[in-house]
Amino acid sequence: MRILVVEDDPGIASFLRKGLGAEGHATDIVDTALVADAVLRAEGSSIGLVLLDLGLAEGDGLDVLRRHRQRGGTTPVIILTARAEVTDKVLGLDAGANDYMTKPFSFEELLARIRAVLRSEVQTEATVLTVGDLRLDLLSKVAWRANRRIDLSHREWALLELFMRHPTQVLSRAQILDQVWDYAFEPGSNVVDVYVGHLRRKVNEAGRAPLILTVRGAGYRLTAPD
Ligand code: CA
Repeated sequence: MRILVVEDDPGIASFLRKGLGAEGHATDIVDTALVADAVLRAEGSSIGLVLLDLGLAEGDGLDVLRRHRQRGGTTPVIILTARAEVTDKVLGLDAGANDYMTKPFSFEELLARIRAVLRSEVQTEATVLTVGDLRLDLLSKVAWRANRRIDLSHREWALLELFMRHPTQVLSRAQILDQVWDYAFEPGSNVVDVYVGHLRRKVNEAGRAPLILTVRGAGYRLTAPD
C-alpha cells in the first residue's frame, strides 16, 4: 500500500520509511503543509493512508487534514504528533483523523493501529477482490486461485492487489514502480519484470489460461480467465 508520511523531522521520516518499507508499504515523504496539500489533491485516491505530523516547520498538519476532508478526501489519516494534550487529540479527531498517536511512539503499536484503521476502511468496501477464479481476501491477507491457496511475499501481494484493482487495464512499468515501490522510474531497472515473473509462477497453473499477460512495449495486464 502507498502511505503518505507528512513529517518534518528527517530522522523520524527516514525511520518510518525504512520500517514501513520492510512491511511492504511504499512511502512518500513530504515535510511541509503546502506540499502535503498538493500531493493529496493530485493523488489522494491512490494513497492508502496518511501519517500526519501536526507541528510542521511550514504550516500545521491540522490544516492539511481539515482541507483534505473539506475537499471530500476520504483517505484514512493517523495523526502522529508530540502534542499530547487531550484538547489536541479532540481537535485532531474532530477534524477527521481516524486515529491519533503521540510521540515517542512504538513502531509495533503504529503498525497495529494502521492495521486497525485499514480493517475498518476495508469493511466499508469490498473485503474480497475477485477476478475470474482468483480471489484476494483483504482482511486475512490470503490469495486463492480456485481452491488453491497462494502464499505471497509483501511485495508480491501489493503487486497482485494493484492488478486486481485494475483488471484488464494495461499497467506500465512506471505505474507499477510508483504504486508498489515508490521509486521513480529508472530506465533499465528490471525489478518490475522480476517480481511479475515471481507472481506469474505462483498464480499461473498448468492447463489453465495465464492470467498476467505481457503487453509488448506497454506493460502488463491482468486478464479475467473464463
Ligand atoms: Ca514536527
